[in-house]
Amino acid sequence: STGAQIVTRIAPSPTGFMHIGTARAALFNWLYARGRGGKFLLRIEDTDRARSTPEATAAILRGMNWLGLDHDGEAVSQFERASRHAEVAHAMLAKGDAYKCFSTQEEIAAFREAAQAEGKSTLFRSPWRDTPESEQPDAPFVLRLRAPLDGQTVIEDEVQGTVTFKNATLDDMVLLRSDGTPTYMLAVVVDDHDMGVTHVIRGDDHLSNTPRQVQIYAAMGWPLPVYAHLPLVLGPDGKKLSKRHGATGVEEYRAMGYPASAMRNYLARLGWSHGDDEFFTDAQALEWFDLSGINKSAGRFDFKKLDHISG
Ligand code: GLU
Repeated sequence: STGAQIVTRIAPSPTGFMHIGTARAALFNWLYARGRGGKFLLRIEDTDRARSTPEATAAILRGMNWLGLDHDGEAVSQFERASRHAEVAHAMLAKGDAYKCFSTQEEIAAFREAAQAEGKSTLFRSPWRDTPESEQPDAPFVLRLRAPLDGQTVIEDEVQGTVTFKNATLDDMVLLRSDGTPTYMLAVVVDDHDMGVTHVIRGDDHLSNTPRQVQIYAAMGWPLPVYAHLPLVLGPDGKKLSKRHGATGVEEYRAMGYPASAMRNYLARLGWSHGDDEFFTDAQALEWFDLSGINKSAGRFDFKKLDHISG
């Protein structure tokens, strides 16, 4: 550690109810920051206008409030920052780290179909990557990252260890769509950078996005955050936690009358351990929580154990 203040965040997409996995990620980020005099921020990733709803945002705020996970400052709306995202994409274009790609969706789809039929790689390499500006058409375009073609992108993850991706397997990701709106990949990096996030603690379903995000940090010359990708929460049978197993939403447990303290204690133990301790106070959780205690294997959400803690 550099001794700089720790800043964590939770960045939920407000597209449904608040899932147990989101609550656990929020708790881990909150514990890590609060236990170290750091800040814990909230960003609502509401860029997907078709799927984001105010009701889902309200459910996230209610769930966090119930669990006592207070965040610093106002919740940030990602959608409202779209012009800042576009500004960064254009700065990358100006530096030569991004380029205009005029390939249409139809052309890309046709390429993929043909490649698949021939049993070749369907990874799209834009023919516009090296076209000088004087030869570019006056037509709609997307901005793509000029990603490295060879070598590797390496992630040092606090939970997963060293994870290596071959750059030859990553395409030049789209940063800005033809209507000028930012992609998720760009928005996350710009927001985390601007918000001063030092530690990104999130589900490992985002691990495959991380090399692309790292490439954007590298292009901008921004310092990387520390990454900790949490194994997903599974059901008691080791399968992906779903409705089959019982309630998967935080609000359902609140409605059923479970005490928030029991839920917190249980969530803290879900994928993190401190010796054989099963019960602990909030003060102990704050003192003990560390990234090194996060389990490498998936946590199993067992409803019976939650009852046991609550009873
Ligand atoms: N919005 C993403 C999600 O809800 C989280 C992104 C992140 O934590 O970086 O899954």
